Amino acid sequence: MSASVVVVGAGYAGVMAANRMKSRSEDTRVIVVNPRPVFVERIRLHQLATGSSDATVSFEQILHPGVELRVGTVERIDARNGSIVLSDGELLAYDHLIYAVGSTDRRDHIPGASEHAFSLSEFEQAHLLRLRLRALPRPLAVTVIGGGLTGIEAAAEFAENDPELAVTLVSDSPVAQALPPRTRRKILDTLATLGVEVIDGDRVAEIAEGKVTLADGRTLRSDCTVLATAFAVPDLARRSGLEVDADGRLLVDATLTSRSAPAIVGAGDAVAGPADELGHLRMSCQTALPMGAHAADTVLARLGGAEPTQLSLGFVGQCISLGRRRGAFQPTHADDSPAWPAITGRVGALVKEQVCLTTVRWMTKQATRGPYRWRRGPH
Ligand SMILES: Cc1cc2nc3c(=O)[nH]c(=O)nc-3n(C[C@H](O)[C@H](O)[C@H](O)COP(=O)(O)OP(=O)(O)OC[C@H]3O[C@@H](n4cnc5c(N)ncnc54)[C@H](O)[C@@H]3O)c2cc1C
Repeated sequence: MSASVVVVGAGYAGVMAANRMKSRSEDTRVIVVNPRPVFVERIRLHQLATGSSDATVSFEQILHPGVELRVGTVERIDARNGSIVLSDGELLAYDHLIYAVGSTDRRDHIPGASEHAFSLSEFEQAHLLRLRLRALPRPLAVTVIGGGLTGIEAAAEFAENDPELAVTLVSDSPVAQALPPRTRRKILDTLATLGVEVIDGDRVAEIAEGKVTLADGRTLRSDCTVLATAFAVPDLARRSGLEVDADGRLLVDATLTSRSAPAIVGAGDAVAGPADELGHLRMSCQTALPMGAHAADTVLARLGGAEPTQLSLGFVGQCISLGRRRGAFQPTHADDSPAWPAITGRVGALVKEQVCLTTVRWMTKQATRGPYRWRRGPH
């Protein structure tokens, strides 16, 4: 009898894993469970908020035709019996499971965030934000909280898209602090050109209707407040009694196999591996794709009676869009540290757009056993 592989979550890691599994093992039944009937390009959700992209791709276009899609949400994984329970009560058995549930926003760290802030982390939230941005009268004060890449991209996108928005970016740490000084300067210059006010080194202490209050007591008018702070992960693994880290990420070994359930392999944002063997795994689409491919390879090795190999992943660069006309591409060494000077401006924007298109292409090509290589890092 052929094996059955269930992939939980059809994001970057899950689609990559499912396509690679099915194209390399036609006899294996591959079922993907995902809450939405379309693939969400999370890396374009700031574009969904302004209307420059719908941030979706149909599964007909992206999934191997032999992969079965089950639209639904997994409520619990029963690792002992090899099955999952969906929120509508259906039970699905598996021989191998690929855990790829991604990440979501965190709202517990700022009072008022749950009631008064929008987020770009999930499709539905970004869509609500789009409706809100359209509906509110101008001029409109928008506050983006978080000076990492998502916050920078969002602030730039909003400001470029509508000059009647007064956009403020608030960050408790220096904006884009992971990037080298020259790249940071370019990004800050571009934000200034777009009219974004940057407040860094101050924390948002509270969000309320129409305003945010900073830790130093200042109050900013904010008709629309957008969270772009650190991601959290769904608690499915924790709820299911699997071994997780303090943040609830599934703990895996260097082959991406769960430390507590040998038939479960993990990939993407929702997974934590041994840093001494795998190096730094930044939560990103750039990490999710090779992890998804490797998760499939681990399962394929086991199906073929072979020992799975260790993941070896190297980074290539960091891509930041600064609206539709500008961007930055910061090349990195395999360990994610900055390498050469960044490509910025219009060319930076073109590189970023190509990267977005290429991620979809890579996943799609796995459905036809197309080549996919990721740079190996020195671990
Ligand atoms: C606005 C924005 C911009 C970004 N820009 C970049 C960028 O430029 N470059 C980059 O590398 N990264 C970027 N990221 C981060 C990147 O999107 C994530 O790191 C990436 O999506 C992780 O991929 P994943 O497959 O692990 O998870 P996801 O893409 O989040 O997919 C997980 C899937 O699992 C589903 N799921 C969750 N729970 C369940 C359940 N219980 N049952 C079934 N399905 C479930 C989810 O609905 C989702 O479809 C950005 C993120 C955001 C929000």
